[in-house]
Amino acid sequence: MRFPTIPLAATLLALAMPAAAAPPSETGALLVRNGHVLTMDPEVGDLPRADVLVRDGRIVAVGPDLEPGDARVIDAEGAYVLPGFVDTHSHLYTTTMRGQFRNADGAYFDTAESLAPSMTPDDVRIAMHIGALELLDGGITTTGDFFDNVRSPAHGEAGLQALDAAGIRAVLYYGGPDKSTRYPIDVEHLSALAATRGEEARVRMGLAWRLPRDRDDATNWAMRMHERDTARALGLPVQVHVSVEPGPIFDALIARDLLAPDLSLVHATDATPAQLQALEAAGGALSLTPISEHRVGYGPTRIDHFAALRRQGLGIDGNALAGRGDMFATMRLAALTWSGEARDETAVDPRALLELATRRGADALGLGAITGTLVAGKRADLQVIAADSLQMAGFGGGDPAALLVYSASPSDVRTVIVDGVLLKTDGALRDVDLPRLREAAQQSARDLLQRASPR
Ligand SMILES: [Zn+2]
Repeated sequence: MRFPTIPLAATLLALAMPAAAAPPSETGALLVRNGHVLTMDPEVGDLPRADVLVRDGRIVAVGPDLEPGDARVIDAEGAYVLPGFVDTHSHLYTTTMRGQFRNADGAYFDTAESLAPSMTPDDVRIAMHIGALELLDGGITTTGDFFDNVRSPAHGEAGLQALDAAGIRAVLYYGGPDKSTRYPIDVEHLSALAATRGEEARVRMGLAWRLPRDRDDATNWAMRMHERDTARALGLPVQVHVSVEPGPIFDALIARDLLAPDLSLVHATDATPAQLQALEAAGGALSLTPISEHRVGYGPTRIDHFAALRRQGLGIDGNALAGRGDMFATMRLAALTWSGEARDETAVDPRALLELATRRGADALGLGAITGTLVAGKRADLQVIAADSLQMAGFGGGDPAALLVYSASPSDVRTVIVDGVLLKTDGALRDVDLPRLREAAQQSARDLLQRASPR
């Protein structure tokens, strides 16, 4: 497939995207001081007035009155310090399709499938970069990005460069050129990209797997098993949607004994207790994406239906489909659906939502040893949520979990640190030329519409 070259867009993108993967900020020591720290570690709990000391990208101490030494001090007085949120499932390349689903006649799948084939590597780069920045701006420090528009090796590389450049922690699940199972995934290129990632890489590779709807399509299954076996040989995590026809695909995974700790399933809103039991027995994980699941009509995301599953997290499923890359809105919808469907306000534990958005999400992505809680030894992925906005005013004290779930929003996120790098401070992303990136994204989105449906 060929794409026309758009000189203006190319120029803008070149300006906005120096392809360098250099870290966006310094990596010096940091001391986040005097915050109300929700470590999200079950043993440690909350520390109502404590500091978090970060050195060489790692949390080295959490506790009161830590000595800053040479660390840059970040004042968190009156604010809440939490692990960065973990978005367990997204499609960041769709960010420049924002506002297009139900814009005219089209719904998500049709519209995305009509626009995605027109994306050049530069379109992918700008969409994923600006999408990742939006996540970071709202306190999401890790994403599991299901990249199912890898139309060429250059597209794959563009996606990886975007996540490297944005500064977010990620598993980049590398997929095929569309949402169907017509084509193989370029596992050789995936292997080559994975080989560039060290043990401690902030952005790691995974496999964005898809399964045929026809259980008896032997040729397709053979292709899929080659992909699965390659990922396993490389030690890469695998993610797969079971949403298209939840029953048959989930059942095929069970029948073929494919559930495993390195596999996470997405959606499964209609999963049966027997299916969930099989997933739990295999040590597999589940990603629920409440906003998109409601939006496309998969049905209410009943968090309480999945209580028996240890490994689960919450996802955004693409900023464009969710409307925004907003974990607060995601938690809030999950909480409201839970109490609404249960017809019981007290069914909801706001702590459970915060756990899903942090520690449990990290564990679901296989990153539980690296991120998701604020304890010494983990990589330093954290956010400071201020309490000085109007929407946070009027809180007299006690457990702040309900305040954070029902009242806070991305605009309350004052500071964001990923891998020890300060990416947002005083309420603004650092070291990014946002006006230029926004203009590049607008241009890319306009060009995309034009190319997909030339007038
Ligand atoms: Zn998805």
